[in-house]
Amino acid sequence: MTSSDLGTGGNALAGHVDDVFRVDVTIAVGRCTQCGRTGPMVQARVFDHAPGVVARCPGCDQVLLRLVRGPGRAWLDLRGLTYLQLPVPDAT
Ligand SMILES: [Zn+2]
Repeated sequence: MTSSDLGTGGNALAGHVDDVFRVDVTIAVGRCTQCGRTGPMVQARVFDHAPGVVARCPGCDQVLLRLVRGPGRAWLDLRGLTYLQLPVPDAT
């Protein structure tokens, strides 16, 4: 069994990251720092079988996002993303 056998779809990010960002991260668009692939985070491969959550690029397997939670806090590592474009309401 390889690590890629354990991965699930990017929808698994919703339960882990949405309450940190308070947005639907699955429809956020990210750009991979390694291969330059740009796409919705729902397409990421998510590994949540450990204390933290890891999302990997579906193109090159680069780690895009890491999230670790502790009591009353969370650590979010986005260094695998050049950017994360988040949906927000239009300013009024
Ligand atoms: Zn990539």
